[in-house]
Amino acid sequence: MTRAALPYTLPVGASSKGGWSRPGRKCTLRAGDHLAGRGSASGFFRGATMQQMPQFGPLMQSIMALDSFDKRRREYKRVGWIYAARNPSFVDPVFKIGQSKVSPVKRVDQLSNSSVYRPFELVYWVHVSDRDRAEGHAHQLLNQYRVNPAREFFQASVMEVARALDRAAAHFPIPLGRTARSGFLGPGLVPVTVRCSRCGTANRVPRLLVSIRISCGNCAKMLTFAAPANPG
Ligand SMILES: [Zn+2]
Repeated sequence: MTRAALPYTLPVGASSKGGWSRPGRKCTLRAGDHLAGRGSASGFFRGATMQQMPQFGPLMQSIMALDSFDKRRREYKRVGWIYAARNPSFVDPVFKIGQSKVSPVKRVDQLSNSSVYRPFELVYWVHVSDRDRAEGHAHQLLNQYRVNPAREFFQASVMEVARALDRAAAHFPIPLGRTARSGFLGPGLVPVTVRCSRCGTANRVPRLLVSIRISCGNCAKMLTFAAPANPG
């Protein structure tokens, strides 16, 4: 593979791996480039919450935050994402729940490139301090819905899937420093409120990346939660 520079420059902050380097740095895409020279969490993101980076979508914020951690440090070696994805070509409403070291959008793209008829769609994700153990935790929580013991597909409702991922994330939060006093990185996808058009009740639902129908917790009216157009 040649390393010739491609004839364009990524937006400020973007890296050639599809992740994001520190904002403010311009980089030119080269075939085969790898992100290098990441700083430690004591830099740009120290003490920052996801909500303090509003100019980026949640996934970009998450990628930037995780990129900024020094992976040589023990507490950041296993950071990554747990994602839920579904495939419209499957007859049954099953979710694939897996872990990823690259961004969940990239991971789901990779799944789609393998052997399926239609691409997978990313439904939900969380970032975690230990992606293997967090994945195991989510799989355990959803064990009764497992389709096949050898495969990571689960026939559960989208709300149960999101709850399991949230619980896995709560079990494996990403520390912002060496001590508990430094706090933890906040969730990437923060729940949203869907107000009932009949009774006015504010229903809190996970910020899913797909549109779903939910029933009002008070009057059971069916409501539509419309996913944001841009999943980032
Ligand atoms: Zn209602």
